Amino acid sequence: MTQSPDFHLETLAVHAGVEPDPLTGAVMTPIYQTSTFAQTDVAQHKGYDYSRSDNPTRTALHGALAALEGGQHALAFASGMAAIDTILRLIKPGDHVLSGNDVYGGTFRLFDKVLSGYGIEFTFANTTDETAVANAIQPNTKLVWLETPTNPMLRLSDIAAMATIAHAAGAWLGVDNTFASPALQNPLALGADFVLHSTTKYIGGHSDVVGGAIILNDTAIYERLKFLQNAVGAVPGPMDCFLTLRGIKTLAIRMAQHCHNAMQIAQFLADHPAVAEVIYPGLESHPQYELAQRQMRGPGGMISFILHGGEAAARLVARDTQLFTLAESLGGVESLIELPAPMTHASVADSPLAIDPGLVRVSVGIENAQDLINDLKGVLNRL
Ligand SMILES: *Cc1c(COP(=O)(O)O)cnc(C)c1O
Repeated sequence: MTQSPDFHLETLAVHAGVEPDPLTGAVMTPIYQTSTFAQTDVAQHKGYDYSRSDNPTRTALHGALAALEGGQHALAFASGMAAIDTILRLIKPGDHVLSGNDVYGGTFRLFDKVLSGYGIEFTFANTTDETAVANAIQPNTKLVWLETPTNPMLRLSDIAAMATIAHAAGAWLGVDNTFASPALQNPLALGADFVLHSTTKYIGGHSDVVGGAIILNDTAIYERLKFLQNAVGAVPGPMDCFLTLRGIKTLAIRMAQHCHNAMQIAQFLADHPAVAEVIYPGLESHPQYELAQRQMRGPGGMISFILHGGEAAARLVARDTQLFTLAESLGGVESLIELPAPMTHASVADSPLAIDPGLVRVSVGIENAQDLINDLKGVLNRL
């Protein structure tokens, strides 16, 4: 099925990119587990010659991803980091990249520890602050890069405003949309040039596959990225593409349940005496509640909360909940819990971006909301 603006997300998630297999009629795209394809004559083939360049299972995934974000083109990668790295290969030595200052740790590491060694200049600025971003733009700025909501503080950036600033400077805007998923926010429609996903998270949705994606509209830039996808070679295997496609089918209903559960849990936490602060874009207490209402179709499944009891209390909650598994990552059907300060954010401990040691981050799954609340309540009532 080709993408059509007439279809809603629930429909696109089930149908986009996927056609019955022309050979057998198989309804689900087969896992074309092959590295190479027979040629009909020298340099003549049926559209596929080698699986790094193209593979039919990946082609189906590209179609689905493009449709979900309302973009013209999509490219899938072996991980979210591989996808970000491929976008950054459009940037040349001497160019400047303005990045959000609380982007995903792996993104910061790639920018600061890897790519800066190749002559690309990076500045890290607070992308929730339009003035700070406008002031950090330089004559050689080629890319503005941000996440919204961010991890784990769930800060929001105004995508449309950032696109205006980036474009006025002749730069691209790239938005890592992993936390919102295409179900809740579509950055291309708000003016972004690139959308990035770690499909490992909500798009895959089952914590069983690592992957990444870029979605964009500009055909000339797509051709350059498609060339890079093959030339650099960080492609996902056919099985990974199949698993991601399978996850996508239920994206819309999963996200609805993630949002429903997270809202109930956020309200429960906000009323609990052991909890000092709840950070969730669906609560009116969120400093950017109004932007969340304007920019997102739902507040998402991620909640951070700070306990009065500090790190000791946070460790107890993370360890003793039964339904929330203590683990990094997010976006799967099962609920996860982690402490960013000693886990995902240990590397920023001594910086201005250090996370409160009493902060707990939960990735709310699609279980029953009351069961999840009872699990948290049992532990919080002991604090
Ligand atoms: C996980 C994540 C990434 C990196 O993706 P991988 O698939 O782990 O390589 C990038 N951005 C955000 C916001 C993430 O959560």
